[in-house]
Amino acid sequence: MIAENVRMILSALPDGVILVAAAKTRTPDEIRQAVAAGVQIIGENYVQEAADAFGAVGHIAEWHFIGHLQKNKVNKAVPIFDMIETVDSADLGARIDRECAKLGKVMPVLVEINSGREPQKSGVLPEDAEQLIRALAKLDHITVQGLMTMGPRFGDPELARPYFQETKRLFDELAALGLGNAKMRYLSMGMSNTYRIAIEEGANMVRIGTKIFGERQGK
Ligand SMILES: *Cc1c(COP(=O)(O)O)cnc(C)c1O
Repeated sequence: MIAENVRMILSALPDGVILVAAAKTRTPDEIRQAVAAGVQIIGENYVQEAADAFGAVGHIAEWHFIGHLQKNKVNKAVPIFDMIETVDSADLGARIDRECAKLGKVMPVLVEINSGREPQKSGVLPEDAEQLIRALAKLDHITVQGLMTMGPRFGDPELARPYFQETKRLFDELAALGLGNAKMRYLSMGMSNTYRIAIEEGANMVRIGTKIFGERQGK
């Protein structure tokens, strides 16, 4: 089932759109099945869960962190991940930079945008993104590679479209500014129920869990 889902999704994605398999709550065996079917990037939300899964399956694909990264977990996250998609403060960026310096590693990161302006959600407000990226661009051990957004959750995926549009607009504006070492290469938006709309609005990275692995129990 997982293999079939992965093949269906991959065959329908337009060229240049990258699939991240959102693997929270999934077992090492489920992750292996997804990778065997063609998944090249695994997304994880929780550092301890990622450490366990990584310990079991190893670097069989790239690992992206897509959850809210607590500052006291940065040291544990940095050795595992190939990209952190959810940087939303200069302080978090500086901590990642410091841990990467210890390992002689340079971490690609995306800046998470709170496109829905939801107070309880993580991400930087769209109007604060430029200043944050200018600060992050000064660090030697991280490289900004683009933006990520979740957007508010709706029953009707069509309602997510304006938030993807706004994030794409911001992505293009930032790309035109030329912000030092920061690049606007990846725009990560869209999940199982919204990824088609996100792609129509310019996403080139989509994070899909349920449509690959089935419904989740709990979180
Ligand atoms: C869980 C999750 C996804 C995937 O959600 P599905 O609806 O299962 O496809 C994508 N992005 C983030 C940040 C997630 O936490």
